[in-house]
Order: sequence, then C-alpha cells, then structure tokens
Amino acid sequence: MKKLVSAGEILVEIMAERIGQSFLEPGPLVGPFPSGAPAIFIGQAAALGQPAGLIGAVGKDDFGQLNIDRLRALGADVSAIAVHEGHATGTAFVTYGADASRHFVFNIRNSAAGLLEMDDAARRLLSGADHVHVMGSSLFSDRATEVALAAIAAVKARGGTVSFDPNIRREIMQASGMRQALDNVLAQTDVFLPSGDELFLFSSAGDERGAVDELLHRGLSCIVLKKGAEGAAYYDRQDTLAMPGFAVEEVDPTGAGDCFGAAFVSFWLRGAAPGDALRIANACGALAVTRKGPMEGIYRLADVEAFIAQAGAHA
Ligand code: ATP
Ligand code: MG
Repeated sequence: MKKLVSAGEILVEIMAERIGQSFLEPGPLVGPFPSGAPAIFIGQAAALGQPAGLIGAVGKDDFGQLNIDRLRALGADVSAIAVHEGHATGTAFVTYGADASRHFVFNIRNSAAGLLEMDDAARRLLSGADHVHVMGSSLFSDRATEVALAAIAAVKARGGTVSFDPNIRREIMQASGMRQALDNVLAQTDVFLPSGDELFLFSSAGDERGAVDELLHRGLSCIVLKKGAEGAAYYDRQDTLAMPGFAVEEVDPTGAGDCFGAAFVSFWLRGAAPGDALRIANACGALAVTRKGPMEGIYRLADVEAFIAQAGAHA
C-alpha cells in the first residue's frame, strides 16, 4: 500500500469550556488534547490502515509525549518526530464564539515545532514515501516552508503525488511569505482540499464552478471542496459529484477537515472511485465533530464503515 507523509506542527490544544468564553479573563479550560493539523491528518490516515508518517518536532515534555503516544497508538510512523530538550511543545488555546467562530492563541514558531528540519530521520521516512500532504498552516515560517517544499521535491522525484489543504487560520496567515508559499505548493498539487471560501483565495473567479474550472486548468487532478455540515463536493476534468454530510450532533468542529482530508487521500491512493472516497471522508469528518478534541473523533476503518452502514439504514 502507498505510504503517506506529512510535515509540520505538532501541538497540544487547550480549549475554553464554555461557548462565548473569552481569554481576556480567567475561565475553565479543558485539555491538553493532542493536535496540530498534519498530526491529526496522519493519525486519521493511519487509523484507516494507510501507512503514514509525520515529520515534526516536539519538546522533551509531557505535551510532546502525549502526541507521540497517540500517533503511535493509531499506527503512525513516528520515527521522524524529533524530541528537543530545552524547548516546549507547541500549543493552541481556543475559544468558541456564539456565532460558531473560533479564535486561537498559537505558540508554534517559538516552540519546539519551530525547530522542524529535514534531518536524517525525515529523509529516511521520505525515501519510502509515495505521497506528501501539505497543510497551509504548516507553512508557518521560512524554515517550515523549506521542509514542506523539500518533502514535495523528494516525493515527486520518486514519481509520487501531492495533496494540499490550505487550512487557513487568520492568526497564522500573517506570517511573512506565507502567501507565496501557498501559491508555490498549489502549483505542485494533485489533490486540492480547500474548505468553504478558501477556494476563492487561489482564483479570480467569483463563483464555485468558475473557480474550480480555473484551478483544474492549472493542472490539478481533482478538487475536493469541504462544506462543513453540508458535506463536500468533488471535481475533476470529467466528473462533478456532490455528497451531503452525515447527520450528527456537532460537539467540536476542530479537526474535521483534517480527518476528512486524510480519509479522502488514503482512498484516492488506493484507487477508490471518487464517490467511495468522498463517502468515507464525509463519514470521518462527521465522526470527528462528535467528540471534544481534534483527535478524539478519529476512528478505525471498521468503525467508520459501521457508522456509514447505520446511517444508510436510518436514511
Ligand atoms: P477544520 O476546522 O478542521 O480546518 P475545515 O474547515 O477544513 O475544518 P469542514 O468543512 O468544517 O472543514 O469539515 C470537513 C468535513 O467534515 C465536511 O466536508 C464534512 O464532511 C464533515 N463535517 C464537518 N462538520 C460537520 C457536521 N457538523 N456534520 C456532519 N459532517 C460534518
Ligand atoms: Mg481545515
């Protein structure tokens, strides 16, 4: 089976307990939860049985250990996660607005995650990789962008493929050079996985079809547009497919896009029909939002298939 690799931020997430809670005054928090978009992605891919490994960096602390233990338990290759003494693992503190907005306080660049590099362990992992997935949030510094671009080059040199989720977080988008890095990655992408308005960041068109056509002409193999509770749509040069989301009670939206993407890419790599890959991805995204914590809603393939069968029986 094809091996999937990603590189980027490993974090713990600590969240406000109540909706509408602010960080401008003390309040109850829950966590730490293992997190970081590429870590969630690799964890979900591994849980579905895809060989998957992560290039990352944590501190020599409990937050780092929590992440490594979780990824290992899910079956991911953790050989290229560097552990740095004297640096703390990255963190994300999250509040939830009453209007469903989320606000983050990130400590990534100045944490152990900022020490991300293409070391021997990373090169070894890439020497067996068939596909690389890039998260826009992982282009948080020049150094991290260099790692992502080197990973793309290594996998492409072996005849492999690239997927890309812009995963824009306003709070990170301000990093200098990020825009250029996003465009650079997109130009090398096979499978593009934007969510909502992210589609329009990379196109001059004002409507979905126009933006999709423009992007497909630039050489992408397919575009999978994530639409939250409404599900997702798939586009390639021949086919268009829309699929509604599964009906679930949303407890915590963070991580849905990463779990969705991991499932779609894993099944795309297996040569599944787009509709089948989209169904598994929709199910993984839906399951992800049913649990508090971005990696708590990761399920193994048998459980995901059981969820789909049950949803079908109730439809
Ligand atoms: P993230 O916050 O992880 O970056 P995202 O914005 O990239 O998320 P979303 O569109 O929010 O991605 O969610 C990804 C997928 O997860 C959706 O396309 C859908 O399949 C599923 N999903 C998300 N929210 C829900 C929901 N409330 N009910 C059912 N499915 C959902
Ligand atoms: Mg996302």
